[in-house]
Amino acid sequence: MKIVKVHSPATVANLVCGFDILGMALNDPFDAMKIKLLDDPRVIIHNKDEYNLPTEAEKNVAGVVLLSIIEKMNNTIGFEIEIEKHIKPGSGIGSSAASAAGAAVAANNLLGNIFSNDELVQFAMNGEKLASGVKHADNIAPCILGGICLIRSIHPLDIIPIPSPDLFVTVVHPQIEVRTSDARQILRQQILLKDAIRQWGNIAGLVTGFLKNDFDLIGRSLEDVIIEPVRSILIPGFDEVKTSCKEAGALGGGISGSGPSVFMLSKDESTARSVESVMKDVYNKTGIDYNTYVTTINKRGVEIIE
Ligand code: ADP
Repeated sequence: MKIVKVHSPATVANLVCGFDILGMALNDPFDAMKIKLLDDPRVIIHNKDEYNLPTEAEKNVAGVVLLSIIEKMNNTIGFEIEIEKHIKPGSGIGSSAASAAGAAVAANNLLGNIFSNDELVQFAMNGEKLASGVKHADNIAPCILGGICLIRSIHPLDIIPIPSPDLFVTVVHPQIEVRTSDARQILRQQILLKDAIRQWGNIAGLVTGFLKNDFDLIGRSLEDVIIEPVRSILIPGFDEVKTSCKEAGALGGGISGSGPSVFMLSKDESTARSVESVMKDVYNKTGIDYNTYVTTINKRGVEIIE
C-alpha cells in the first residue's frame, strides 16, 4: 500500500500592506504528514505531537479537507493520515493552512495528481473555514505553490505567484493567545480615502519591489496604515520590536497573519540574525515566553518527501 509523506511549510499571510491578499511561504518551521488510501469513505487521523488537536475528521482541518476530496471522488475512497505538527496552532504562521494544504497535496499525489493547483486551493480552503470561520487563501496558496502569492480574488479564484528576491525572514512568536475572532472584530469597517490611497501605493510598491529585486523599494513599501495600527495593540512589545528591528537593519515587517507572531525581512543572513537577537532582547524584558525562527522564503511549497 502506497504511503505518501509530505512536508508542509509555515506561511506569513497579511503581508504588511497586503492584508488578505499577499502571503509568503517559509522554509522553517514545517509540519510532517504521512497519508495512505483506504477503500471505504472515512478519514482516520493520528496526531503525533503534543498539541492534542481533534482526531474527529469534522473537527480537524486536515480531516475536513480530506472529507471534501472523498465527496468529490463520489465516496469511493478514504484516507488514513498521521500528522506531526511543528507549527504551533494559533501562532499566526499558518498552522491550520499547513495541515489543510499538506493534506490536499498528499491526497492528490495518492490519487495520481488528478486535481489542479486551483482545485487543491479550493479543497484546502475548507480547512481554513473550519479554523477561522472564513475561506481565505493567503496562507493556503503560498503553502501549496511556494514563494509569495497574490490572491487577487477568491470569487473567482485568481492566484498570482510573484517571483521574489532570496530574502531572509526572522519570526518571533510570543507565546500569548490572540484569538482570530478578536483580531477580526476590532478592525474598522470603514477607512479614509487618504489611507486607502497610501495603502494602494504601498501594495503596488511592494509587488514592484519584489519583481525588480529593489530592496529599498520593498523597505519603503512595508508600511500598513490600516490594519496594523489597530491590531498591534493586541501584541505586547510590537512597537518596540518593529523599531529596534529596523534599526538593526531589517527592511521592515509586521504582524504575521492575525498575530501574535511578528516577522521581519532582511537582505542577508547576518542582518536576519541581528534582528533575531533584538527580538529576543525585547521579549526577555517583557517576561513573555517566545520562539524565534531565522529562515528564508520557501520557493517549493508542500513537498512530497517519498
Ligand atoms: P494559525 O494562525 O497558526 O494558522 P489558526 O488560528 O488559523 O492558527 O488555526 C488554529 C485553530 O484551528 C485552532 O483552534 C486549532 O485547534 C484548530 N485546528 C483544527 N485542526 C487543526 C490542525 N490540523 N492544525 C492546526 N490547527 C487545527
